[in-house]
Amino acid sequence: MVRASVILLLALCVATPARADDVGTTAASLAQRMRADTTPFDTVASLTTEVGQRLAGTEAHARAVQWAEAKLTSYGLANVHAESFSITAWIRGVETARVTVPAPLQLAVTALGGSVATPPEGIEAEIVLFHTYADLLAAAPRSLDGRIAVVTQRMVRVEDGAGYGAANPIRRAGPSEAARRGAVAYLHRSLATDNHRLPHTGALNYQDGAPRIPAAALSMPDADQLERMTALGKVRIRLVLTPVERENAPTWNVVGEVPGRERPDEIVLIGAHLDSWDLGTGATDDGAGDGIVMSVGKLIAALPQHPRRTLRVVLFGAEEMDYSGPAYAKAHADEAAHIVLAAEADFGAREAYAVMLPAGAADADFGRALDRTLAPLGAFVDRRPAVGGGDDVRGLQKEGVPVASVRQNGLDYFDTHHTADDTLDKIDPRQLSQAASVWTALVYLAAETAFDFRKAAAAPK
Ligand code: ZN
Ligand code: ZN
Repeated sequence: MVRASVILLLALCVATPARADDVGTTAASLAQRMRADTTPFDTVASLTTEVGQRLAGTEAHARAVQWAEAKLTSYGLANVHAESFSITAWIRGVETARVTVPAPLQLAVTALGGSVATPPEGIEAEIVLFHTYADLLAAAPRSLDGRIAVVTQRMVRVEDGAGYGAANPIRRAGPSEAARRGAVAYLHRSLATDNHRLPHTGALNYQDGAPRIPAAALSMPDADQLERMTALGKVRIRLVLTPVERENAPTWNVVGEVPGRERPDEIVLIGAHLDSWDLGTGATDDGAGDGIVMSVGKLIAALPQHPRRTLRVVLFGAEEMDYSGPAYAKAHADEAAHIVLAAEADFGAREAYAVMLPAGAADADFGRALDRTLAPLGAFVDRRPAVGGGDDVRGLQKEGVPVASVRQNGLDYFDTHHTADDTLDKIDPRQLSQAASVWTALVYLAAETAFDFRKAAAAPK
């Protein structure tokens, strides 16, 4: 009888990783399993082949939502559903730019998301070229009256993508800054690190009190060409952009869960965005992130015993135009106190080299256990606290939800980001599985250890 009880107890210990060591062992073996798993790549291949591009608010995105619900269900997640919200959809039209003076020359351009249209025949004007964004900001009011402003500042290539953040105002705020100074249209060198004639799109943000002028991104060689031409004399460009907007277009955040076995009300939320730009097939942005978080959900759902806390996978519906994060935070404001950790995978398909945790966690038991699990994967816990966890969880972060950030190698991410060249062939399946294995370690430990990130952040240093 005693012996039978001991055997039963041992069996329970194996099945229930109650001690920290056991949790770490399970996390390590799950991460190794993910590393050898092709599900992350297979998921992106399925999405980009069966759906393709999936611009938010369009029929293509609606098909992606159906795909996501079916896939999450087939991956064994529970409570799979789509939460609707509405957006102003923006749909690309014709986009051409041609130098007319001193001699005809076709330029490679793409409209910025949210840009207003030109008249059907276009806008033709002399350009004023600024080598830096600061030069544009220094231009006097009315100094650009009737002109097309062109900014050719280069984005800097760095592993963590900080060059993109630094250059972001050129695209986001540049159109309104140019319009305030009298410009009738705006062009900028793509926020990118390649040297191909494929321009990179991305959203702009018109500012209140400035006229809304058409805006587009130039390819790198075309920006170089305009720099050389303006050094020689006057340059005129005819720009034609014919995008349209559709008010109150429906879109959805798609959700699936692995309900927690002991603390189902405590939620570890991981997300990626299901929408993409329309030029390529959104393979690295953000099919890769979808592949990562859906595969982590699949692996954890298949465990004979679920983690203590609930794992929630959210495929956000309109990140590129900044709608889905605020929509999710608004719809789930009452629930924010129950979300113990949130993070979004949205930085391509290369290997992950570090994890940044909420303040106080890196030096606690949690950070040490994670660091030990990450070492064999070729990653580490960055001791600096995570500043953000991704665009779509920023709203939750404002509601007090702790966030983590998995850092992936982004050296070449901005070579194809937001272009027609963001396609499946850019993804190395093994690197993507390694990134997913780092996510697996983070997610399993966060869901199983019941570590209190809020308390760790509040503790005196
Ligand atoms: Zn993205
Ligand atoms: Zn993007």
